[in-house]
Formats: sequence, C-alpha cells, structure tokens
Amino acid sequence: MSPKEETKIDITEEVFKEPIEVIKKLSSYLSLAYTKVIQTYVMEDRTLELLLLKQGSSYFKGKIVWIGNRKDDTEGTIFCVDTRSELKKINPTSENTENVVLDLKKNAILISTESKAKCSVCGKNIEIFDDVSGCPLCGAKAHKDHLLDWIKMKHNCPICKKSLDLSSIGQIIID
Ligand SMILES: [Zn+2]
Ligand SMILES: [Zn+2]
Repeated sequence: MSPKEETKIDITEEVFKEPIEVIKKLSSYLSLAYTKVIQTYVMEDRTLELLLLKQGSSYFKGKIVWIGNRKDDTEGTIFCVDTRSELKKINPTSENTENVVLDLKKNAILISTESKAKCSVCGKNIEIFDDVSGCPLCGAKAHKDHLLDWIKMKHNCPICKKSLDLSSIGQIIID
C-alpha cells in the first residue's frame, strides 16, 4: 500500500465490459446512491460528473444521470449525462476511447477520447456520441443508422460483402 492516497482509478476495463462492473468498481470507492431499473442504474443524486478529454483538455462535461447497457446487448456501458441544456448519451468503446479514469478528488469520471475507427459506410470518424453497429461476420464498424440503411438497400456488408439482412425488429442478421 502506498502511503499516498490513491485518487485516480482506472476503470477502462469495466466500462468496456458492462454497467454492473462499473457500478461495483465505483461503489468500492464512493458511497453511490442508485436505483436499478432493469439493466439501468439511475443515480439518486447527480453528484458524479463525467468529463470528456481530448489531449488532456476537457471539451464536454455534465452530471451522470444513469449508467446502462447497449440496446443491442453488445458489451459496454452507456452513460447518460445532463449538461444542463440537454441529456447526452456517451458511448465509450475501444474505437473512440483511450482510457476511463475515476478521479476521486474531482468526483468525476474522466474519459480520454480518441477517434480510432472510421465508419465503413460514410468514412467519417466514429465519435463517442455516436451509436455504433458492426457486421456480425467481419466486425466492420459503422454509425448505426448508416449501417442499417446500407443493409436495407444493399443486403450485404459494406466491407466483407457477405449477405446480411434486418430482422423485423431491426437487428442485423446473417442471411
Ligand atoms: Zn457513417
Ligand atoms: Zn462484414
């Protein structure tokens, strides 16, 4: 044990895994008051902040409203953040996130962002606010809307060209 109190805890692994892992980790350092609503953990007091950083400087912040999982059941955690003017969903994945740190001094979660992947449909960077979807066969990533539109029209993957289709509830299925 270091005599100096640990104030920055890396939670990247937990965030990429699932909300319950994030909650467990946060709860071991903070007295976190939350209510579990199905798979979503709603903060009872919005004291925990979330900051997005690019090259060390912050460009976005807000109070965490809830921590939940992705609707398509893929691994990862979504943070819903109140910026005072709107509610924003933050979607950290290994494609857009360098690391995630719990800063006990600031009482905040700091996400260092970095665009590492481009959308395989439109070619633009996949950012942390974007909903992302992927080809179940080759793993190619794209903006969710762009990939679904592509499959609707072309019935294949933009990268591997294998046959794909959409189910009645809009999930990508292998043809
Ligand atoms: Zn796109
Ligand atoms: Zn593919």
